[in-house]
Amino acid sequence: MKVIPYGCQNISDNDIRSVVDVLKSDWLTQGPAIERFERAVADYCGAKYAVAVNSATSALHIACRAAGIGCGDRSWTSPNSFVASANCALYCEATVDFIDIDPQTYNICADKLEEKLRVSECTGNLPKLVIPVHFAGQSCEMEKISRLSREYGFTIIEDASHAIGGRYRDTRIGCCAYSDMTVFSFHPVKIVTTGEGGMVLTNREDLYEKLQLYRSHGITRNPSLMHSEAHGPWYYEQIDLGYNYRLTDIQAALGTSQMNRLDEFVSRRHYLAQRYDQALKDLPLILPYRDLNAYSALHLYVVQLDEKKTGVTRKQLFEALRKKNILVNVHYTPIHTQPYYREKGFSDGDFPVAESYYASALSIPLYFSLTEEDQDFVMASLKEMLS
Ligand SMILES: *Cc1c(COP(=O)(O)O)cnc(C)c1O
Repeated sequence: MKVIPYGCQNISDNDIRSVVDVLKSDWLTQGPAIERFERAVADYCGAKYAVAVNSATSALHIACRAAGIGCGDRSWTSPNSFVASANCALYCEATVDFIDIDPQTYNICADKLEEKLRVSECTGNLPKLVIPVHFAGQSCEMEKISRLSREYGFTIIEDASHAIGGRYRDTRIGCCAYSDMTVFSFHPVKIVTTGEGGMVLTNREDLYEKLQLYRSHGITRNPSLMHSEAHGPWYYEQIDLGYNYRLTDIQAALGTSQMNRLDEFVSRRHYLAQRYDQALKDLPLILPYRDLNAYSALHLYVVQLDEKKTGVTRKQLFEALRKKNILVNVHYTPIHTQPYYREKGFSDGDFPVAESYYASALSIPLYFSLTEEDQDFVMASLKEMLS
């Protein structure tokens, strides 16, 4: 029986040709394909600068470093995300806390953020960093979060791992009009892929310089950053502690080629999502909310099962679909309930909206190459089990 995953890459002949061209060239890494990819993404999004790295996790880490996050600083993010959105601050020896989500958008709730900021100001616990996550590709309320950042003086890193190709108001996600930096992921389940890969975008030159340093060992060849006169043409200096988070040219070429089809990828996702909206509207499911201020990249199509209206539990539905080789998934187990975070003092009940969302959420298949026929099978299977 055919397997229908919840998400899947799409690789064209042009993508393959681009990769083969790099393999036949002089540069497998640190070559010209990197800058081309960075330029393609930055220009698409309308950001000044972009730094390509080997994953979004690395991108989040160097973004935190560039923001100056260090020992004792506080970082806040959404509990409804992949663990990397929180871990990145821990890499920098900062502490992590969460803001509960909005029950409609499943994104960080801007009103709760404001409330928590007001309380934290009184107790002297303000965060240095907030990482909003554009869950499923739909933007957070960035206008309000950006206003709060000016009022309370925190840095914003958008975790837009789900959201390349999406828009917020009249801007593209990634333009950084409402943030200091934006991070994308190019893992194969995401909208655009490089196998593994990530990127940080920013409009600030000071951050751009730091991001480049941290990507590659803290080493520079830029004379204006060096502490002494160059000893000769071979000379470089390590001026900070960085990492090897470089993307290869092989991956970058794949990414640049994929960028040509980004709009096509997202509009196909919208077409398929509308088919789901139509077919599933009478089932005991809560369908994804569409924010009129945002055009979602639709990385995920998440339904919530109304268990009270059916005899079926989420787990039963999940297992029944898996038996039909429909590989549904659940995004996400709230980060604060992970054992590692429980050990830091978090517990059940800390962020109740994220927890109750998690109890009923199910991500059903949505990707560019999902055929109408396969989608019909998914919809029929859901109807069979729920009506
Ligand atoms: C996928 C993902 C990441 C991590 O991306 P990698 O490229 O796999 O490191 C981070 N945050 C969110 C929200 C993600 O979905």
